[in-house]
Amino acid sequence: MTEALDTLKKLQELDSELFRLRREEQHKPLELEQARQLLAEAQANASAVEARLNTAQLKRKEKELELATAEASVKKLQMQLFQVKTNKEYSAIQHEIDQAKADISLLEEQILELLETVDQLKREQTQHLGRVEAQQTALKQEEIRIRQELSALEAQLQRLEVQRADLTPLVASESLALYERVLANRDGLALVPIVRESCGGCNMVQPPQVINEAYLKAKLVTCDSCNRILYVDETA
Ligand SMILES: [Zn+2]
Repeated sequence: MTEALDTLKKLQELDSELFRLRREEQHKPLELEQARQLLAEAQANASAVEARLNTAQLKRKEKELELATAEASVKKLQMQLFQVKTNKEYSAIQHEIDQAKADISLLEEQILELLETVDQLKREQTQHLGRVEAQQTALKQEEIRIRQELSALEAQLQRLEVQRADLTPLVASESLALYERVLANRDGLALVPIVRESCGGCNMVQPPQVINEAYLKAKLVTCDSCNRILYVDETA
């Protein structure tokens, strides 16, 4: 049983590494999340600016239309001035013209302001689109990095699997079956040392009989609580 235990120890070393690498492999794609999120934020910001730009441009068109209407009405009123018969009519129309001109100058001011806003937003839009592009590039680079790391992990896993396949035939099938079962149920840790009379896996204190049997190495001894295979660490 001593030899079997030694082989199981080597197997456990390999399996610990295999489990660690497989976990790493599973988590790798999650590393893309940050880059994805930054890109989504940049895209959201760019869309928000675009919406504001569209609103400002629509508003500007509206005001330009109002301006054209006001200018046309001034022209029409000025024509009417030639046809009036009384002073009273004349001053009423003149008053209307003054009003329309006041509207026109206000509209011109508003249009100027809107043009400035549009210009400003266009500059902001350029910046935001630049950021979107930068984040797209960053995401692509991250994808390349992760692909490379995953293939390196894959190669490492395959190397370890080969080493593992060399070891498993050396363990009696019953012992191996027990080991494999616990390995699968206990997240990659099936063989643990007894540490200060307790299971090195779940810390449960072991009865003296179990500890004695572990010393004797006549058969595989397991922890009653977590089912892991126990051994006495001679080096400790
Ligand atoms: Zn245990």
